[in-house]
Amino acid sequence: MNSFGPKVAVSRSDLPARVTVWEVGARDGLQNESTVINTATKVEFIDRLSDAGLPIVEATSFVRADRIPQLADAADVMGGIDRKPGVRYPVLVPNLRGLEAAVASGVRDIAVFASATDTFAQRNLGRPMVEQMAMFAPVIEAARAQGLSVRGYVSMCFGDPWEGAVDAGQVVGVCEELLAAGCTELSLGDTIGVATAGQVREVLGRLDASGVSTDTVGVHFHDTYGQALANTLAALECGISTVDSSAGGLGGCPYAESATGNLATEDLVWMLDGLGIETGVDLEKLVATSAWMAKVLGRPAASRVVRALSR
Ligand code: MG
Repeated sequence: MNSFGPKVAVSRSDLPARVTVWEVGARDGLQNESTVINTATKVEFIDRLSDAGLPIVEATSFVRADRIPQLADAADVMGGIDRKPGVRYPVLVPNLRGLEAAVASGVRDIAVFASATDTFAQRNLGRPMVEQMAMFAPVIEAARAQGLSVRGYVSMCFGDPWEGAVDAGQVVGVCEELLAAGCTELSLGDTIGVATAGQVREVLGRLDASGVSTDTVGVHFHDTYGQALANTLAALECGISTVDSSAGGLGGCPYAESATGNLATEDLVWMLDGLGIETGVDLEKLVATSAWMAKVLGRPAASRVVRALSR
C-alpha cells in the first residue's frame, strides 16, 4: 500500500457519525460474476472481509443450485467460515425450504428479494408484483418466529429496464408491505444504477413521510452511470446510515450492459473516511483482499480505490 490515504478528514454535522457498511460481495458480487469460484476461496474471501472490520458480510444464497450455480455450495460455505463474534452473516432465502437449510447451517440473518416493478417481479419471481408478498410472508413469519432478522430487498426502486421510471409511491407501497409482513429492515436497490441524487432524496423523502424510520432502511446503489457515491451522499443527508457495497466492486449487473455493477466498498470507505464517518473498516486490509480476489478472477477490480492503492 502506498501513502495516498486521505490526509484530512472533514466532518459534517448533517451526516451520521457512523455508517454500517453492509458488504454484499460474497453474495451479490460473486452471484453476478461469470466465473464460478470454489468453496475454499469463498470461505477465505468472507473471512478476510470480516477480518477487515466489516460488521455485516452477506455470505451466500440458499437457492436452487440449478438457478444460481455460482452459489450452489451455500451450506458448505456457511460451515467453513470462521464466524467472528458480533459480525452478522446474512443469506438470501427465497422460500421455506431455503430457510430450513439456512437455519440448519446456523444462519441467524436472512434476506428476501422483492421487486418494486411488475415486470421484474414477473421475470425474477415468476409472478406479478401483487402476488410477491404471498411468496415471502410465510418465510418472513417463520424466520421471525425463530428469532431471525429479516431484511427485505426492494429491487428496481429508481428505474426499471423494461418499465422505465418507477413511481416513488409504488416503492413506498412495497416497503410498507414488507415491514407489515415482519421484515426488520429494508434495502432500497437501484438495480440498474440509473438513479441520480435528486431522485434519491425524492424516494427517501416519500418513505420518511409514510412513517418508515430511516433506521430500518439501507441503500443499495450500482455505479453503472457513475452515480453511486453521489447517491450515497444524498442518502446520508436524508438520515440513512446503512449502505450496501461490494468489495472491489464485484458483480456486474445482469440487467444492464455494463462492466460496472455494485458500488465498491473501498470507494465508499474512502469517502466516509474523508467525511470523518466511522465504519470500523480497515481500508488497507480490504484493498489487499480485493486485489487478491481480482487475481483469482483474472481481471482488475472495478473499484477505483483498489486500482489506485494496489499499483
Ligand atoms: Mg447489487
